[in-house]
Amino acid sequence: MHKGLIVQKFGGSSVANVERIQNVAKRVTSYRKNRFDLVVVVSALGDTTDELIELAAQINTEPSEREMDMLLSTGEQISVALLAMAIHKLGYEAISFTGAQVGIITDTSHTRARIVKINGDRIKEELKKGKIVIVAGFQGMTLNQDITTLGRGGSDLTAVALAKELKANACEIYTDVEGIYTTDPRIEPKAKKIKEVTYDEMLEMASLGAQVMQARSIEVAKKFDVPIHVRSSFLDKPGTMIIKEVKRMEDVLVSGITLNKNEAKITICDVPDKPGIAAKIFNELSSSGVSVDMIVQNVSHIRSTDISFTINKAELPKTIKIVKKAAKNIEAGEVLKDEDIARVSIVGVGMKSHSGVAAKMFETLAHNKINIEMISTSDISISCIIQKKFAETAVRSLHEKFGLGK
Ligand code: ADP
Ligand code: ASP
Ligand code: MG
Repeated sequence: MHKGLIVQKFGGSSVANVERIQNVAKRVTSYRKNRFDLVVVVSALGDTTDELIELAAQINTEPSEREMDMLLSTGEQISVALLAMAIHKLGYEAISFTGAQVGIITDTSHTRARIVKINGDRIKEELKKGKIVIVAGFQGMTLNQDITTLGRGGSDLTAVALAKELKANACEIYTDVEGIYTTDPRIEPKAKKIKEVTYDEMLEMASLGAQVMQARSIEVAKKFDVPIHVRSSFLDKPGTMIIKEVKRMEDVLVSGITLNKNEAKITICDVPDKPGIAAKIFNELSSSGVSVDMIVQNVSHIRSTDISFTINKAELPKTIKIVKKAAKNIEAGEVLKDEDIARVSIVGVGMKSHSGVAAKMFETLAHNKINIEMISTSDISISCIIQKKFAETAVRSLHEKFGLGK
């Protein structure tokens, strides 16, 4: 008699060394003992992915994206094999697979591929034989059999997509913190674990820098209503449920603070103040696959203006090249870059129906003598770009000001 299927995902820090891999094997087999079918998704060991990126950069600063995927996917291939061996050692049956082997088919956008479909037959076959199935996270294959990866943190997406495809009874994300907190507990030790959070809030927090879940995995979870349990891989304690709806007597005003230090700011000076100019610049960027985040255009007094925007730091060399060329074409001035910035954001569904939240945020930053360089807002969040050296102070003071430590 089987109790149902659980998809469990273990992140890089949960499999960082031999002892931790053995711990994961123990946890997985304890569920097996309790007669659950298990599909286990694993990330690359510790910082392997970062180390591989670093290694590639030593060979070529602008490596081909196809070859990057070929390289990065090896990290996860190591973990699945080692975990299978650790499970065998405990006397259980397990079999490991790459993304391609279990039919995770993606589009061709290397390094950020989207899952098109999953052919779950092989997994089902092995589950039927009583095996624990271990799948390499973060990777798939195009119809042309090229290996792709799903964007940083993409093992979360592998887990959610498999949970949906296999109609799992639960999707558990095991990580190095006990769940989702009001802010990164590494920055603010007073951060509180949240019991339940909605897909919308989590999506906003993830998009704004809360690394704990990959944003795209939450998009998929929301679309197919896959509840996610984020919990500790070291402690046996309930974590945070990410679900459709949370019943609170009243919406909380701000439920989390996020920080993103992975963005860079670019400013194009003296851009002619004429229709169509912004379109020209941003068309060039989008057709090269650069996604632009915040954009600010200053009001001009002398028929020219400065345009600033932020992008992911990883895309800086590529972006600078494109923008310098575009600036020349439109007869704009200098192109400046600033990598020492941070985006600090407050997130909460309660903001929709309350005013004064932005003012409170700006006041808190001003009180700490932190200058705001750019601002952007959504329905349920407000973000400010500030100098990176103030990032942690900003997070802690906002956490305190909005009463999140209580
Ligand atoms: P994994 O290797 O398990 O995928 P990640 O490093 O991707 O783990 O994500 C876990 C980390 O996310 C935590 O160690 C924590 O520092 C960070 N983090 C950022 N914001 C939050 C938050 N609001 N709640 C919990 N963790 C957060
Ligand atoms: N190993 C990949 C990364 O570091 C995928 C993941 O950890 O989810 O981004
Ligand atoms: Mg992660």
